[in-house]
Parts: sequence; C-alpha cells; structure tokens
Amino acid sequence: MKVIIHGGFFSESSTNQEMKLAKQNALAEIVTKAHAFLASNTALDTVVYAVSLLEDSELFNAGIGSQIQSDGKVRLSASLMDGKSQKFSGVINLEDVENPIEVAKQLLAYDDRVLSGEGALAFSRANGHEYFNPITPQRQAEYEAKLNQQERKGTVGCVALDADGNIAVATSTGGKGFEIPCRVSDSATVAGNFANEFAGISCTGVGEDIVSGALAAKIVTRVTDGFSLQNACEKSFSELKPFDGFAGVIGIAGNGEIYHCDSHPYMVWASFDVSLQVFN
Ligand code: ASP
Repeated sequence: MKVIIHGGFFSESSTNQEMKLAKQNALAEIVTKAHAFLASNTALDTVVYAVSLLEDSELFNAGIGSQIQSDGKVRLSASLMDGKSQKFSGVINLEDVENPIEVAKQLLAYDDRVLSGEGALAFSRANGHEYFNPITPQRQAEYEAKLNQQERKGTVGCVALDADGNIAVATSTGGKGFEIPCRVSDSATVAGNFANEFAGISCTGVGEDIVSGALAAKIVTRVTDGFSLQNACEKSFSELKPFDGFAGVIGIAGNGEIYHCDSHPYMVWASFDVSLQVFN
C-alpha cells in the first residue's frame, strides 16, 4: 500500500517560509489520512478522497482557493483514472462546484465520461452538487491586482497503490490564472493524468507543455514497456527540454516504485510508503 500526493509548484519559496511550512503540514496531514484510508479502501476511492481533501484546502489551486480566469470566473478541471479498468473520467471548466473530483468519480459509471462547461455543470447539479463559490478573498485580491500571471500556484494530484495491487490516479486544478476563458488545462486529459496496471502518473506545471509532451501517458507507456519508473520519468523529461517544458510529476509503479520529479524548482509533494516523507 503506497500513496503519493502533490500540491503543484511552489512559487513563494524564496520569500515566504510561513507558506512553505503551511504547505508541508497540509500535505503531511492529507497523505497520512490517505494512507490510513487506503488500509480499508481501494486505490480508486483513496485518490478521490485525497484529492477532495486537497481541493478543500485554500492553500492549493484546486477547489476552494482556485485561480481566476481572465473574465473573473473560476473554472475547475479534474479527472481520475482507474488503472485496473483503464477507465478515465473528468470534468473540464466546471463552475460553482465544491469538489470537481467527486463529479469526475460519478462520471466513471457513465458511457460519456468527460464533460465540459455547461454540460458538466448540469450533470453536477443533477447529481447532488449544490452551488458553491470557490473564490477566496485572497484570490480575488490577486485577480484584481493582476498578480496571477506571475505566480504559479499548486494544482493537486494523488496516485495510490492498494492492497490488491491496483493503481489509481486523480488530478484537480483551477488552471493557470488569467487564462482566456475556457482554456483547457492538461489536468483532465491523459497527458496530465493517466494510469494502467503498470503505473499511475499525475502532472502539474504548464498545461500546454504537459500536453505537448503527452507526459503522463508517455511515462506510463514506458513503464508498461519495461522501463523503471525513474528511467521512464527521466527519459520523458529529457524530451521536454527542446521546448523548455515546465512540468512536475508524481508516480507509483505496479512493483511499488514511488518517484517524483520536476523540470524547474520545485513541486511540493508528500508520500506515505513505510513512513511519511514530505518535500523540504
Ligand atoms: N497544469 C495546470 C494547468 O496548466 C496548472 C498547474 O499545474 O499549476 O492548468
């Protein structure tokens, strides 16, 4: 049983030690809860549980506290993938919902498993998700000050390997901030979130770079074809270099290998294998 989570990139690192400590504590607490949850739940239920806790933290750019698009609206994207069934589901640019990852989980039972915009909102309301405004005063102030373009805040993700050897992955984001309304992030695509029986990968970083690198699906495919997880990540990250791709990933392989890496300093993460580990 293993679990690893990320909280995206940390842009306040050099100036704000208080924020760093808050993120370390939040990630440590959530990964510890997720590991305990995994003892009696599947990898699939665990990644949804962990990502919903991350969405509920204002420290991260997912759920409440998400960044605001250029028209003043928050639009959330989230997806999950069950490595066992190979089913992927997600929502893209969903407005006014508290936990988009839970909507993605409900969609797993349908034939039409990725919904965007108004359709995603109608599905959410029909499936018990009430109106929720994810804009915090801090994000509103940043938006008004037009600061979002300079800061890269944290998308969230989780990969889990359960006691039956099944892998699942979930990723959730508020996007990059100040984007053209309805810009599509990598987070609800197979470039940003992918799993099969051999490995699961959740990405963060510049969505366009992650899509150009087909990153999560590529790393998982390499592991499937015999690469170690670390070698698959290293080779795939070397292929981002020609276009200076900006990305970070967390992953777990079916053999239990846990790995994380980033192209630029630095992604925040925490894992629970035999013991708790947190970025520093
Ligand atoms: N990948 C996300 C996006 O491009 C942002 C992030 O991970 O920070 O929307």
